[in-house]
Parts: sequence; structure tokens; C-alpha cells
Amino acid sequence: MSHLKSEWAPMINGNWALLSLMARKRDARRPEARRPRSHEIEGLEGNEYPLLPLTDAVVFPNMVTPLFLGRDRSVRAVEAAESLHMPLLVVAQRNPDVQDPDLSDLYTIGTAVEVGRILRMPDGSTTVLVQGIERVRIVELIDTDPYLRVRGIPLFEDERHDMASEALMRAVLALFEKVVSLNSNLPEDAYVAAMNEKEPGSLADLLAHVLDLDLEQRQELLETLDVNVRLQRLSIMLGQELDVLELEDRIQTKVQQELDKSQREYYLREQMRAIQNELGEEDETQRDVRQLREKLAASGMPEAVRAKAEEEIKKLAAMPPMSPETTIIRNYLDVLLGLPWQTATEDNLDIRRAKEILDRNHFGLPKAKERILEHIAVRKLAREKMKSPILCFVGPPGTGKTSLGKSIAEALGRKFVRVSLGGVRDEAEIRGHRRTYVGALPGRIIQTMQNAGSINPLFMLDEIDKLGMDFRGDPAAALLEVLDPEQNHTFSDHYLEVPYDLSKVMFITTANILDPIPPALRDRMEVIEFPGYVDEEKLAIAHQFLIPRQLEAHGLQPDQVQFTTAALRAIIREYTYEAGVRNLERAIANICRKVARRLAEGKTAPRRITPGMLVKLLGPPQYTEWLVNETDEVGVANGLAWTEAGGDVMQVEVSLMDGKGNLTLTGQMGEVMQESAQAALTYARAHAKQLGLENVDFDKIDLHVHVPEGAIPKDGPSAGVTIASALVSALTDRPVRHEVAMTGEITLRGRVLPIGGLKEKLMAAHRNRIKMAMIPRRNQKDLVDVPRDIQRELKIVLVDRMDEILSAVLLPGTPKPPRPKPTRSRRKRVSAPPAEVQPTAQPTAQPAMTG
Ligand code: ADP
Repeated sequence: MSHLKSEWAPMINGNWALLSLMARKRDARRPEARRPRSHEIEGLEGNEYPLLPLTDAVVFPNMVTPLFLGRDRSVRAVEAAESLHMPLLVVAQRNPDVQDPDLSDLYTIGTAVEVGRILRMPDGSTTVLVQGIERVRIVELIDTDPYLRVRGIPLFEDERHDMASEALMRAVLALFEKVVSLNSNLPEDAYVAAMNEKEPGSLADLLAHVLDLDLEQRQELLETLDVNVRLQRLSIMLGQELDVLELEDRIQTKVQQELDKSQREYYLREQMRAIQNELGEEDETQRDVRQLREKLAASGMPEAVRAKAEEEIKKLAAMPPMSPETTIIRNYLDVLLGLPWQTATEDNLDIRRAKEILDRNHFGLPKAKERILEHIAVRKLAREKMKSPILCFVGPPGTGKTSLGKSIAEALGRKFVRVSLGGVRDEAEIRGHRRTYVGALPGRIIQTMQNAGSINPLFMLDEIDKLGMDFRGDPAAALLEVLDPEQNHTFSDHYLEVPYDLSKVMFITTANILDPIPPALRDRMEVIEFPGYVDEEKLAIAHQFLIPRQLEAHGLQPDQVQFTTAALRAIIREYTYEAGVRNLERAIANICRKVARRLAEGKTAPRRITPGMLVKLLGPPQYTEWLVNETDEVGVANGLAWTEAGGDVMQVEVSLMDGKGNLTLTGQMGEVMQESAQAALTYARAHAKQLGLENVDFDKIDLHVHVPEGAIPKDGPSAGVTIASALVSALTDRPVRHEVAMTGEITLRGRVLPIGGLKEKLMAAHRNRIKMAMIPRRNQKDLVDVPRDIQRELKIVLVDRMDEILSAVLLPGTPKPPRPKPTRSRRKRVSAPPAEVQPTAQPTAQPAMTG
């Protein structure tokens, strides 16, 4: 229960003064209204009344009430009362849904009223204003047609003016005052009128009239003739109303407080703005906008971008400072204005200086250095017209790709930035998310350009061979746009929305192996190989670069620690197994750290690092010096593989046993490698006579080909000749020469086809103390890249046909000794490495070996 019924409200609210005035007038006009105390006048037979049943109202004596007349019979009853100048009796229906009520549907006590104005509405309905006179009890029904007519007896109230009634009046008034103060639908006038009411009965009726009570409660109050009891009941109802109102008020206040907090801040800010405006000062937003405009003017953006930025600044200026949209626009503008648009570094095209810088930081790497110097020379002649080449440095980890990139940047006087593409699967990482996404950001290219601060940095894209692809789009396609000189002057980033010019950037990409790079991307780039270093090169790099660098990094003077060449050799051979020098550098750093610590603690530290100290400094050796094969064995041949970490020697083992002509292949061979094994077998069968296998019944034996390091996936066709050699060795029972390694694809007819990664493979053979390597003749052209040292120390034999290999590697058969079990005999890791020295020979990610 909360408010007055709506259709009553305007009438009552607006007419309080009038209402009480009318009530007073009635009292003055009808002094006989003050009746004796008995409820019914004794012996009175009562009066006859036209009766108006009310569906949802109770009329109290003295109160003016508008009544809506819906039924014809009701209209007729009202008209009769008016024309006969007699009071009308209004009584509430017990059930408002009954259309034609008879006496049993009505309460027995109602109110005699004086009919005031009858208002006929344009829509045909009728409303009548009535004013209550007195309570009346219905005693009998006289007639039902044309309207209800009843006999009723006026009731008189038990009205006392004693202390109890006075106290009750005050209590009710006090409660009512509170209700009025909390209920916005009750005007102040209501309380004034109540305060001026001197009669306890009339006060109770007035309050019952204005309060929003149920029909039953109203009827109960109407029927309570003892005025004190009526006041008591009313005070209970007022108390309940007050409880509800107070609860409502508390909730309202809480909600309001929450609202107020944010609104307060808003208002204060607005006020501050207004005050600052009055004082001629600028507020925070204005200052922001001014600063943004200044930056914009200085940014040198192309016109289209400038217009876009200006548009966003305008939006920002018009926005309330606290809105979330503001932050989004602010961030966008920060990105736009934070990007270099015109700022460029001037290229230093002094070739001699460039050469000096490249040589100062790097040993060897003649091809890469040469290419850069050529580029500088051409730039010098062609000036701006020359576009930067897109270089791709390919090689195992730790071969100096990144650090050479840095040196090139230094030589050219360009800023150096890099981004790793390893594991990037989502195009949005390259190109950004549209600004409509929550937390959207520009892609890595634009973010990195922001860091570069100039439009022409040297931009290194690392691990381009590790680029992924999935349902979120193809990042390689986005990269194509970055690397295409025809397109990259208008590179589009989803977040940025405006084109960005990447054409002045010099891109260098890096990769461990070329194969996984999508051909379209590979075509755009000029590949420069970083094949890895032989021991002598590593030694030179350690002496000239790694040791001085690490000494300086650890605050040591050159005379405080010296590494003997023997110690370095031991580190290279026994503690690292890699194509690059990353672990070597780590081991050197490790030793420097230990020495520095001892010196810092005031203890004595070794000045010369000798091989004997290594166990103490680095722990037990990780790789013992083993030749690949200790002995010549039957069914075991050395192949050469190409891995991400460079090259490696890979043994192939073949066993045969009685069976049904099955071929089992194990050691995680890829499809291509399995097919090579099939081809090798077919070759052996097809050439059985030539190979001395005419007595072998292939249908009665089972063959098992295994490639050790069984957990590492391997693939590629280049193991073909090795598998064939091991097979023929097993079938003929002739041992294979252990100091020979081979590589090449085999055809069914026994031709040997060329392979990839020759340089890496030969370096691995050399590292593993192989004496002779047999390679496809068609790979002869690649020998120019193979370091001289290796060509000197490793006998390289070029072959066209499989039988050339077989006749070179198979030793004459021995009269059946017990066949030795093939042993794994390449350099073996003999113990778990200490945490500081992690060999990269078998990278943890288990790369595929490709032959
Ligand atoms: P990558 O990028 O090829 O994995 P890095 O450029 O990170 O290899 O090289 C690893 C470390 O080896 C660096 O500290 C680098 O300076 C050093 N390094 C590699 N090659 C050479 C070299 N030819 N001369 C001098 N230092 C080298």
C-alpha cells in the first residue's frame, strides 16, 4: 500500500482547503448532526434511500469524493436522489466483480451522501461528486427497479472528549506527520487539514479518506463506531504504513547515494570547467586537446591521416571526460601520434666504416657482410631510388644472425627493432584488431614501429619459419604485404584504419631452416646462409669476441682471467654440441661469474683456466669424445641429417630374421623416409644378382629398419642411400666401414639424387670425426660453401650410383662371427647437464631431422 488511488489524487490534492471548508460548513449548517450517543436512534424506522453500490470505494462522512458511474442502475439512482432532493446511500460491494449486486453482496453499513455535481463526460460516462453526511445501516430492500431502493437507519458515533481520545488524536497526528513527510503523494496541506480537525471521529475519517488503505481496511474503519477504537485501529495502520515508507526511504537513499557519488564528480568537473572557462583558463580536456593538436601539427602525417586524427580529436573534445569511449579514442590517438610519420635517421653510407663495424663485432660470415657492404655501395650511387633488399638469414641457433642484424643497423646508423614470429598463428597479431573489439591493439608491426621512433629502422622478423596458421587467418599472408615493396607503402593495420608506409624500413628475417617458409614468402627474400662454425672458428670467436665481452660484462680485467686454448677446446668438445656458439658463450659466462664471485668474496680465484679445472667449474663433461663407430659392423651405416640445430650424423640399423617377407620401420620415420626405405629394399631385390643376394629368399625373412634417437621425428629422402647400405650389409653379412658417412636420395634403379643442407651435413660429419663422406655428384656445386678446413680434413667422394657407394663402404664378408649387437656409438651424452650448460644438440622441441 502506498498511495492514493490515482483517479482520486488530483481532486483531493488540489482541494484540501476546500474540503475541510465544506466539512466545516456542513457542521455549521446542520447542528443536528451532533447526535446523542446511541448508535441508532431508538424507535426510528429509518429513511428510504436510493442505493449506489460501489465497487472499489468507501465514502466517509464529510468527505468530498468523485464517484464514477459505470452501470445504468447507478446513474438512475443518482438522478433520483438529485431530483428528489434526498440523500443517496453509497455502500461498498463485498465482491467488486458482481455486476448486479443484491443486498447479500453488499456490506450492511454505508454512507448517506449529498449529491453534488454530475459530470457527463464526452465518452458517455458519468462522474458524480458526492459529500458524505453520516453512517447508515441498511435494514431492508424496498425495490430493485429502476434502481435499488433501501431503508436505512442513520448511525451515530460514540464520540467522547476525554484524555484518552486526546492522547489518541495526538499520537495519530504525530504518525501522520511522519507519513506525510515520507510520502511524496501526500501534500503538506493534508497535514495542515488534519491538524485543524478538532473532532476525533472526523479526524479519523479524514485520515481514512486520504490514506491509501485497502477496501477492507476502509470498510472496517467505517464500521467502527467507537471513535477511540477507530483512532486506535487507524494508528496501527499508520504505523504499518510508516514502516513500509521508512524501508522504501532507506533503499531510496542508498540508491541515491550511489548515484550521487558519480553525479557529484560529474557536476564538480562540469563546475570546474565552467569556473576555468570564466577565469580564461583551460580545463583538463581542453589542455589534452590542445596538446594533441600540437603533436598533430608536429607529426608530419600525410593529409588523409591528419584529417582522421583531427576528426578523432574533435570527438574527444565533445565527450564527457569520464566516458569509457574517451579512453578508447585517447588510446587510438596516442598510437596514431606516437607513430613515426616523417622522422627518419640519415643512412651512413661510409663503406669503410661499415666494414669496420661489422668486423669489429663478428668473426667470419663473409657472405652476409659482403652483401651488406654491396648494398651500402649501391645505395651510395643510386641514392634514395634504391629499395632496401629483404634479407633472410638462415641457420642454426647461435650463429650470429641477430647480432649481425644489430651490427648492420649500427653500421647504417639506423634504429634496430625486432619481433619474434615464433608461434604467431593469428593474422590479428600482425595486423591488429579492429577498434570495435574490447581491448583492441594494433598489430606487432605497428607496435614495433612505434618503438622504433623512425620510419626507416632495421626491422628484424625473427623465426619466420615458425609462423603458424589456423582458422584465425593466415599470418603469412599479412606478412607478404609487409614484405612486398609494391604494397608495403600502404600497409593496413585493422586498428590503425589508415595506411602506414613501411617502404623505408629495411627488413631482415631470420629462420633456422628454409623448408617451412611458405614459397610465396621465400620468393620475396634474399637468403643468406649461416651454416654454423667449425671448432677452429669457434675458438677464434671465443678468443676475439665472446671472452672479452663476458669479461667486461662481469667487471673483470683481461689479466684477471685467461682461458687457455686447451680449455676452450675442451669446452667446445665436451660441454657443448652445437653449430653456433650460444652454449659456448654461456659456459664462458658461467666461468666468469664463478671467478667474479670468488674475487668479490675476497677469495683467490684461478687466473688461467685450464682443462683440468673444468669439472670443478662446469661439472662433469656432457659429451665424451667418441668416434661415431668404434668398429665396422654388419647392418649399421652412417647417414647425414639436416636438423634445425645444424647437421647431425644419423645411424641406420637393419636386422633380419626368419619371417614372411615383412618390412618393419621404426624410429619415427616420416612418410617420405618410409618410402625411401621401401625404395631401398626394392632396389636390393631388383639388383639381387649384382649384389650377391641371389640366394636370399626375400619371402622367408623379415626386415627391421630402425633409426635411433627413436623419439625424434625424422623425415626426408636423403637417408635413402644409407638405408640401402645397411640393408645390403645385413643381407650379405658384410660389415660397413665405420668411418664413412653418406647422404643421398636413391631411385629404384640405383641412381643417387642430390639433397639439401650439404654444408651442415658435412660440418656435422667433420664434428663427429668421420673420415670420408659420400655425397651425390649433383651436389658438387654446393661444395663452394663448405669451409676449406672441412674439405681438407674430410674426404669427400662424389657418386652417381648406389653401387659406387656399396663397393666403397662394404668390407668383404667374414666367415660368420657371432653378429655383434649394433651399438649406438655416436657422441653420447653421458650425464645430465648441470643447469647452466644446456646443450642444443637435441633441442627440447624435438625438431624433425630431414635428410
Ligand atoms: P642467432 O640469432 O643466430 O640465434 P645470436 O645472434 O643470438 O644467434 O648469437 C649468439 C651469440 O653468439 C651472440 O652473443 C653473438 O654475438 C655470438 N656470435 C655468433 N656468431 C658470432 C660471430 N661470427 N662472431 C662473434 N660473435 C658471434
